[in-house]
Amino acid sequence: MNFKKIIQETYQEVKSIDDNGKVASYIPELACINSEKFGIHISSINNDNFGIGDYKDQFSIQSIAKVLALSLAYHIVGEKIWERLGVEPSGTAFNSLVQLEANKGIPRNPFVNAGAIVISDILISNLKNPKEDFLAFVRSISNNSELNYSAEVAASEKKTGFLNIALCNFIKSFGNIKNDPSDVLDFYFDLCSLEMNCKELSEVFLFLANNGNSTIDNNSILTNSESKRINSLMLTCGFYDESGEFAFKVGLPGKSGVGGGIIAVLPDQYAIAVWSPKLNEKGNSFKGMKFLEEFTTKSDLSIF
Ligand code: GLN
Repeated sequence: MNFKKIIQETYQEVKSIDDNGKVASYIPELACINSEKFGIHISSINNDNFGIGDYKDQFSIQSIAKVLALSLAYHIVGEKIWERLGVEPSGTAFNSLVQLEANKGIPRNPFVNAGAIVISDILISNLKNPKEDFLAFVRSISNNSELNYSAEVAASEKKTGFLNIALCNFIKSFGNIKNDPSDVLDFYFDLCSLEMNCKELSEVFLFLANNGNSTIDNNSILTNSESKRINSLMLTCGFYDESGEFAFKVGLPGKSGVGGGIIAVLPDQYAIAVWSPKLNEKGNSFKGMKFLEEFTTKSDLSIF
């Protein structure tokens, strides 16, 4: 594949740059990671795959899981999901409370914490065994029965998740949470604790590069329209108050997590996962952003 050389060169180049980012420590378990880890894996719909660095090491995908939760919830409830969630970039931090009061408990988009908490509520209302059924959905997308939650990370976040607890209760006061807030939060912490390596992550997200269809058996996971909309939300809202910067510099739909992972998708071509745990001040992987900027610039492959 012609990406291989560009990935190898860019990997070496970005690996050696001075990284002034910091590992997330507000979830104590995430601070235990070796901050020098750096891995990349690309999976293409033509089955051209390539990985480099620590691409076989699992990490906490955190907010990247919000895209998978949205995919399942949107497919189950359809367009009426947008009565409970906006589709506008927030321009605020991932865990911000400020817009919720003015917006009467309707989160700005599904990727800020408030939005993913509402999605968690929707999934709890619609799934028989939410924790097991959501995991089964994630496993089925990539036909990988090894994928799992981390009980340690979920417990660690639960112990220190006061801001998320506040967000959930605040939204509940406006009537936009239907279930018991503690059940909603337990599910939210579990979904954020999903662990994958870069290879697994790029394989799981390949359906968004393939119009919502599985590349394994061509089964429809999302409709074309749902897949298009999720990609556009990743482009406009995937990096919180750095979404404009990512679209400007990288030019791909993508999603970050505070575990240091980033997934980016080029529709009709590939999904690429990058992992480097040190985060910039907006909570996005410093080297991950840098790598993807260089990669799309050198390969001249972005959606624009
Ligand atoms: N679980 C994290 C939180 O709720 C997810 C944040 C993120 O990855 N941006 O704070």
